[in-house]
Amino acid sequence: MNVHLLRAPDYREEHFGAVADLLDSFQMPGWNFKRVEPYQFPDEVLFYFWSQDREEPDTQEYKTMVPWDILFGLCKHYRKQNNIPDNEVVVLLTTKKNELNWFSSFDKSRNIFIDTDDWEPYFKNCHHKFPVAHEIIANCLQQAMNLNIANMRTEKCIHMITRGCMNDFCGHKPDIAMKMRTADICKDCMQRLMDCGVQRHIVNAASEAFEGLRKRMKYLESFDWANWEGIIKVNSRRQIIFPELDNLEIPMNPLMKTLYLFYLLQRKNNKRGVSRTELLNYREELLKIYLVVSGHERHTQFISNEHLPLKEMLERIDELISTVNNSFNEKKSRIKDAFEKNIGENLAQAYLIKDVAPAEEDKKGRALAIELAPEKIIISENIQLSPLNWPLPPFPFRMSRTDKTALKGIRNGN
Ligand SMILES: [Zn+2]
Repeated sequence: MNVHLLRAPDYREEHFGAVADLLDSFQMPGWNFKRVEPYQFPDEVLFYFWSQDREEPDTQEYKTMVPWDILFGLCKHYRKQNNIPDNEVVVLLTTKKNELNWFSSFDKSRNIFIDTDDWEPYFKNCHHKFPVAHEIIANCLQQAMNLNIANMRTEKCIHMITRGCMNDFCGHKPDIAMKMRTADICKDCMQRLMDCGVQRHIVNAASEAFEGLRKRMKYLESFDWANWEGIIKVNSRRQIIFPELDNLEIPMNPLMKTLYLFYLLQRKNNKRGVSRTELLNYREELLKIYLVVSGHERHTQFISNEHLPLKEMLERIDELISTVNNSFNEKKSRIKDAFEKNIGENLAQAYLIKDVAPAEEDKKGRALAIELAPEKIIISENIQLSPLNWPLPPFPFRMSRTDKTALKGIRNGN
């Protein structure tokens, strides 16, 4: 089943990306999700989409109720412009409310819309991408089995009495939330899917994805956040992630990552804290880490110290460890911001580079460390620090003006 995921202009790019990434994270033989991004709808198509805000007489709040044909119209426009075959599915993701306030719906031409808004209150600790991904898969099957949503009372495969099937009728978001936590595909609906020519492996893949979504949501919902101290991992792609939080990444630039990974390795190997002034003793190690996190590790094998990008990297490391420079404090504080923004101030505490017990303070200054338990730190085996095969020039290293100009030339493609 080919499914085109289309982002309505009101839906944020990063949310759209999160939903598409989640769908991609499941092995779903027979399913092919294609994210259409970026897609520019022409103004005349968007005019009616944007012009549905109206003021409610009682509350004076602006409410949007977009008619279904306008939502399906966006799908149709994309379909027509790109010659999408009739047997492929187009799914529009939008935060706009539709005229009947359904969570999602489909038409007879394999166009689907999903309301992505207001899910979070029903799923404690869960991103809305989970219910939205569930709705996408369910709607694809429902349109393929020609579910008659216009005549729900006579449609045998819409169950007014709950039976733990994706086609149980749910009038409210709390009901649908309950359904996602439990339901699969019942025998009758399975038969109907087969009768409509949907291949067995496609239905099985959907069933397994439902199960996968359920497991991840259950895990997130059962969290005792107050005492949570989860595993932090540096994966083979040099990303800093929380495997237990659905691989949530803490974004950092290579130099922030270098500093963070250095302290993470110290802690993992049960070494003592390292003060600001002592960092100078770890100059070579920091450079090796920098090479690894920026994907240059193999260069340590053959590049001489004449190599310009390498010289620039060394200069940045020397700025980082220099006590007369602000680079260290700036990176340390940006690392703190990145954690706090992604997992909140309280949970972030265990992962920050901090002053350790004053007892460790000596004439070299107060030691800094990450206080997380070493067994909570995982570093991918692919991350290996290779020896440098050239001697480091004296500290502090500064690039010459000629080198800088030459490097700029390389960057500009001269
Ligand atoms: Zn059913």
